[in-house]
Order: sequence, then C-alpha cells, then structure tokens
Amino acid sequence: MTQPRTYRAVGLTLRKRLAGEADVIATMLTREHGKLDVLARGARRLTSKLMGHFEPLTLLRVAVARGRALDVISEAEVITAFQSVKTGYQTTARALYVAELVDGFSAESNANPALFDLTLQTLNAIAEQPMSDLPLRHFDLRLLDLSGFLPELYCCIDCGAELEPERHRYAAGAGGTLCPDCAPPDTLIRPLSLPALKVLRLLHRTAQPAGLPSLNIPAAVQNEVHSALSATLQYWLDRPVQSQRFLDATKSA
Ligand SMILES: [Zn+2]
Repeated sequence: MTQPRTYRAVGLTLRKRLAGEADVIATMLTREHGKLDVLARGARRLTSKLMGHFEPLTLLRVAVARGRALDVISEAEVITAFQSVKTGYQTTARALYVAELVDGFSAESNANPALFDLTLQTLNAIAEQPMSDLPLRHFDLRLLDLSGFLPELYCCIDCGAELEPERHRYAAGAGGTLCPDCAPPDTLIRPLSLPALKVLRLLHRTAQPAGLPSLNIPAAVQNEVHSALSATLQYWLDRPVQSQRFLDATKSA
C-alpha cells in the first residue's frame, strides 16, 4: 500500500538547526508519528508565515509533505509556545532538560502517544510548580518506564528475591535494586536509603505529574533519588545529560 503524500500531526519542537539560507530543520515529537526531522522552508525569512514557529518547546499543528530526504512542512499553526515556562531561567532550564531527554529516548518515526502526553503534562507541571524538582524526577522515571527501561524497585534484579526493608542497594547498569547478597560483575552498586526507595516507588505509582502529592522531601533524599535516576538515564543514553549542567547553574546562580 502506498503511503499518502501528505499527513497531519500535532508535535512539539524539541530542537532546531539552521539549513540553507533561510530554512530550518526541526526535530519534533509528534503524537501520531513519533520523533520526526522536518524541513521548514524559508522559516527564517521575516516575511515567512512559518517565521518563529519552530523555536524549541513550541507545540504545533502541522501538515507535512513526504520528501525524498526530509519531510517538508506545508502548513503550521502554533497551539502554544509554553510562554509560562520560558519566562524564567529555572523553568526554561527544566523544560530544556525534558526536551533533551525526550529527544534522546525517542526513536525516529515510532509513535509513543503516552510519552507525548507525559511530555506536555510535565511542561505544564513545570509551569505550575516552578521551584519543584519533583515533576522532573517523576518525568525521569516515567520516561524510563515508557521507553522500556524501568528500573526494578521491588525485587533483587539478580536473584529475584523480594527486597526486605533496609536490605537493598541500587545498580543503574544492572537494572535497579539488588539484595545485599548479590553483586553482578562489572556493575557499579550504590547504597540507596529506604526513604529514597519509597520516593522512587511513589513516583512510579503516580500516573501523571498533576497527581503528585505536595511532599516535603528532605534535600538529602531528593539528591539520592536524583542521583539514582540520573545514573540510570545516563547508562541508557550512554552519555551525560547536557542540560543538567545548565539546570545546576541556574540553581547556584
Ligand atoms: Zn539478590
């Protein structure tokens, strides 16, 4: 069956790069078709009706024509530019962190509507709770889950035994929690406190960031949760998360 020559989608721009004299190639996460690179011809011309539409973190309704190398935007309408997250450094840094990870974990042309919805819900949560890191940690864990990399949080990933309270450790590269008796080779094992494990389980049980309880989690526990998730993300990405440095810089500023 031949594919139609044009298609429509709702997509979020994750990043853009410049091409030719006035073109833009945008990487978008679409609900219908997964991650796509699309060419927006003339989008850098002041006179173009596409001008400014492909800034990162813009939600668009697009019509796209299939092209030989890249698909080409024929129409684009901005649904929201998420101005509420772009007004401050910290919220912008948080939103760019989300965009980088979604980009890193999404496969080209592989639709994952739940991941698309999670991404928009997380951007809204960042706007609503600009000083909280909890929506990002929820995002980290749900992203891993929706990408097929959810770390084990209840049993030992080596022997399968159910974890007993206070008798567990965490190994990002091995896939999650370990009992004290197991030590798979070539694995970096770190301690994980019971409160941190409980926060991870809570994040996993919470379907949407809007459903996150307003918890007062001690900074040390938050750091532990962040460190375990960030090691897991880095393991699967096979590189550090670039925007984390920007995010850290906004916090110490
Ligand atoms: Zn074990």
